[in-house]
Amino acid sequence: MKPKIVRSVESLRREVARWKADNLTVAIVPTMGALHQGHIELVNEGLRRADRVVVSIFVNPKQFGANEDLSRYPRDEEADIEMLALAEVPLIYAPMAEDVYAPGFSTSVHVQGPATVALEDKYRPHFFDGVATIVAKLFIQSAAQYAMFGEKDYQQLQVVKRMAKDLNIPISVIGVATIRDQDGMAMSSRNRYLSKTERTQAVAIYKSLTQAAEKIRTGTNSQTATRAASRSLSTLGFKVDYVTARNAETLAVPTTAGEPLRLLAAAWLGKTRLIDNLAV
Ligand code: AMP
Repeated sequence: MKPKIVRSVESLRREVARWKADNLTVAIVPTMGALHQGHIELVNEGLRRADRVVVSIFVNPKQFGANEDLSRYPRDEEADIEMLALAEVPLIYAPMAEDVYAPGFSTSVHVQGPATVALEDKYRPHFFDGVATIVAKLFIQSAAQYAMFGEKDYQQLQVVKRMAKDLNIPISVIGVATIRDQDGMAMSSRNRYLSKTERTQAVAIYKSLTQAAEKIRTGTNSQTATRAASRSLSTLGFKVDYVTARNAETLAVPTTAGEPLRLLAAAWLGKTRLIDNLAV
């Protein structure tokens, strides 16, 4: 069945209120469209947790910097709707930017903690306030009980969890494991920017993280292992923003032996910025 598409907050609220009147639980899956199997896995997990899922599709201008890829970000609503129909999503919320940020819009959610650990925040200074603002709006607008977020954007997942907790928004933020292509490359809408050759090269990010994780597991110091991963990516032609091991929850630089670690990487391949991360 084709999903119902709503574009206003009022219609979204009406649909969700109807479900809730029938005692059905609701999960929201926030996306920027250009959907792939990673997004669908969030939908599937949402349907396991809740009775109904609403997928939002909105390319949020507030999370893009002036020199970033907002204007060329891939948009394909028709294909997205088809994928969501196959995944049996009943409701899509696809608002217009001029409605989301109506004239006079003056409020921003400013996040710190996991949003200020010199990872994505260092290279994309406005990103997390932009994400927190739109996600807080989506949580309030949808009144969903569950929200599904990918571990692919690991720092974002921690920031969103923190934000929902700090603002007392009654929603459970659920992290979903990264879906990968057969070679291990993390699926991403931005992979569409890669040429065929670049796509073949790009898996090196995953491979270098896997190798670093293996080294750490067998006793190598985490800094030594991530430095080697960074060097090997540079040698292969990547411009590395960071490859680092952090505390898996706070994302702080690890200080004690035996802390749970997460390896995180961001690197440019040509004109495309790619991120990935892995548990140790
Ligand atoms: P985006 O449309 O890229 O903003 O992503 C929307 C949601 O899908 C975010 O919670 C992402 O973390 C998640 N996501 C993106 N790629 C993947 C993937 N390969 N596996 C799992 N979740 C993903």
